[in-house]
Amino acid sequence: MGIEVFMECNVPRLLTDGGGQVSGAVGYRRTTGEAVALAAKAFVLATGGIGRSWKYTTNSWESTDDGHALARWAGAELIDIACMQFHPTGMVWPLSVRGTLATEGVRGDGGVLRNSDGRQFLFDYIPPMFAAETADNEAEADPWYEDHANNRRRPNCG
Ligand SMILES: Cc1cc2nc3c(=O)[nH]c(=O)nc-3n(C[C@H](O)[C@H](O)[C@H](O)COP(=O)(O)OP(=O)(O)OC[C@H]3O[C@@H](n4cnc5c(N)ncnc54)[C@H](O)[C@@H]3O)c2cc1C
Repeated sequence: MGIEVFMECNVPRLLTDGGGQVSGAVGYRRTTGEAVALAAKAFVLATGGIGRSWKYTTNSWESTDDGHALARWAGAELIDIACMQFHPTGMVWPLSVRGTLATEGVRGDGGVLRNSDGRQFLFDYIPPMFAAETADNEAEADPWYEDHANNRRRPNCG
């Protein structure tokens, strides 16, 4: 389709013209270190998430928030940066698997999400559209795993 793809190429900075318009980018090839200069009429950043901001995460090593930084350095305003999607279950021990994702299935199969106080905090955030099918509190949710038919499920994030 006439599109040139720069595989394994990192962009550390966008370039702006005198009016603040983004007009170029500089990068380097990860494999060789060769410098790359890119010019275009428009730039779309699709640099993924920021999961690597956290110590333990299932996100790729690439999710380092580069895109937000590139945009900010070029003068862009960011919105809704508090909206962060994350996978709530992962491995923490042994060290060799720390950060590996634990499937959603663990919650469907009885796993429970708690905050650092040990509280099942998702009872505070039940979306109205799921309220009718979700238990109101821990005591109501506890029997659900053994008896789906006569109990409402716990809120468990997917
Ligand atoms: C372990 C795991 C399991 C998942 N499972 C599912 C699933 O089952 N179903 C589902 O729908 N979603 C799943 N997701 C989520 C899904 O992978 C992401 O939502 C999706 O990949 C995001 O796409 P994206 O294009 O926004 O970003 P990404 O796929 O992260 O792509 C961003 C790209 O930008 C590149 N980049 C970043 N910074 C720079 C830079 N400075 N210069 C050059 N390149 C840069 C990165 O190298 C990367 O290739 C999962 C995610 C994880 C981490």
